[in-house]
Amino acid sequence: MQTNICSLMATTVKPSCIKRVINPALTVIQQRRYASNLDADIVVIGSGPGGYVAAIKAAQLGMKTVCIEKDPTLGGTCLNVGCIPSKSLLNNSYYYHMAHSGDLKERGIDVSGIQLNLPKLMEQKTNVVKALTGGIAGLFKKNKIELIKGHGKITGNNQVTALGPDGSTVATVNAKNILIATGSEVTPFQGFEVDEKEIVTSTGALSLETVPKSLIVIGAGVIGLELGSVWQRLGSEVTAIEFMPTIGGVGMDGEVRKTLQKILTKQGFKFKLGTKVTAASKQNNQIEVSLEDAKDSNKKESMTCDVLLLCIGRRPYTENLGLEEIGIERDEKGRIPVNSRFQTVIPNIFAIGDCIHGPMLAHKAEDEGIITVEGIAGGAVHIDYNCVPSVIYTHPEVSWVGKSEEDLKQEGIDFKVGKFPFMANSRAKTNLEVDGFVKVLADKNTDKILGVHMIGPCVGELINEAVLAMEYGASAEDVARVCHAHPTCAEALREAHLSAYCGKPINF
Ligand SMILES: Cc1cc2nc3c(=O)[nH]c(=O)nc-3n(C[C@H](O)[C@H](O)[C@H](O)COP(=O)(O)OP(=O)(O)OC[C@H]3O[C@@H](n4cnc5c(N)ncnc54)[C@H](O)[C@@H]3O)c2cc1C
Repeated sequence: MQTNICSLMATTVKPSCIKRVINPALTVIQQRRYASNLDADIVVIGSGPGGYVAAIKAAQLGMKTVCIEKDPTLGGTCLNVGCIPSKSLLNNSYYYHMAHSGDLKERGIDVSGIQLNLPKLMEQKTNVVKALTGGIAGLFKKNKIELIKGHGKITGNNQVTALGPDGSTVATVNAKNILIATGSEVTPFQGFEVDEKEIVTSTGALSLETVPKSLIVIGAGVIGLELGSVWQRLGSEVTAIEFMPTIGGVGMDGEVRKTLQKILTKQGFKFKLGTKVTAASKQNNQIEVSLEDAKDSNKKESMTCDVLLLCIGRRPYTENLGLEEIGIERDEKGRIPVNSRFQTVIPNIFAIGDCIHGPMLAHKAEDEGIITVEGIAGGAVHIDYNCVPSVIYTHPEVSWVGKSEEDLKQEGIDFKVGKFPFMANSRAKTNLEVDGFVKVLADKNTDKILGVHMIGPCVGELINEAVLAMEYGASAEDVARVCHAHPTCAEALREAHLSAYCGKPINF
């Protein structure tokens, strides 16, 4: 006999608990709808990778923890409209490209009747986002973190009020500590009206309903290159317009930058560098984009496209947070100034992640969240921003950590270079993935690793070995002497260290 769980529980528990059985992700939110006053050791505003990780760490350290989130799902930009959906589309669009471009055929796999099922591709993306955001809700429950749905506003040095959409008070939390983890938002492009259908931000570009015949991306930074790659693989003609003379944004080594541009160009990506976009207007189902040379305003031209993607960066999100009212001033970029323990000018109010200084990266926000909370509990607080890695998930991937060759030259540091091409790596060669190289920069006198820069297969994973080595102050010789499994792409990393240390790699 089957038991109807709802009718069974309806007789014994309150209606809100029935919701818990049906949808665990929504329960706590529902339970807090009528809450008024709560006491906590820490209240975290925002549940992105900075906020949710900090909340879990705080709860693990025994703090009574409350998290306030304004959006319907947890996980912030990263899980909902950032890292996760973009990587889902990048991964699956690459498989399509492999099948469609004849790459599989080259490998001896004949496939026919290849068709893109865009709704299915999008469904996969949505499913993974749902699973991961729901997973955070489960972790909150497991760690007994109170989740309040509402817009958190700081209403006192020890108080945060959660506001409903109509501005009414959902709950007031009195807490010993407040952690601001409100993240960032897309920087608007003055004069461009975003409809997220034809003129889109990264958010709209993650959910286009058809493959545009032509796509113009304004900004050839990390997000522009990744999302441009997705649609280029799915069949769009993609042109990236970039104000700077180079692609890839800040921090990338110049040699890697040039190689990436060459490879993407070979894949069909078009670039217009040193070019300013001055206007865009809709004309007969097309968007006309006006361009100007960045150095010579007399040189003008125009282009048309079906979809225009604005990727000029992100800015801190601190809207209606109550900062000014309690005396916390933002800097010229809208960021919240903090000290090395992530304290604002009010010592029990902390801030982390995209809303403070430093690279806007999920893992940077996570690390800051963990150490801030450990600091509150009396622990040491230390982060070395030189050891925060960056990855671009194009194909091939690009990754780096530490100083670039240009940085070292500018700082007048004596360095040596060790390079190893993937062409000479057995695994890369076996997998027909030979584009790219590993480049290690080490101190000329001490052999200490100062930076590692890679472009090639799996380098988004390989970079973590380089980060570990740098975190522990390793020399190039240290890594060169570590046994690496064969055949792996990681052997290229070892060989580049060998090259930096003694100038003599084995296999090249
Ligand atoms: C398309 C795209 C791709 C990306 N890819 C990568 C990648 O591959 N790797 C990487 O490291 N980074 C990537 N990023 C950047 C990454 O998403 C961010 O650096 C990261 O999410 C920052 O985390 P955070 O916790 O500081 O803020 P967010 O993730 O922005 O989270 C902030 C949260 O706070 C909530 N909030 C804000 N104000 C309030 C308030 N007053 N009350 C209640 N809640 C509030 C927001 O709703 C949000 O949920 C990508 C970003 C984009 C847009």
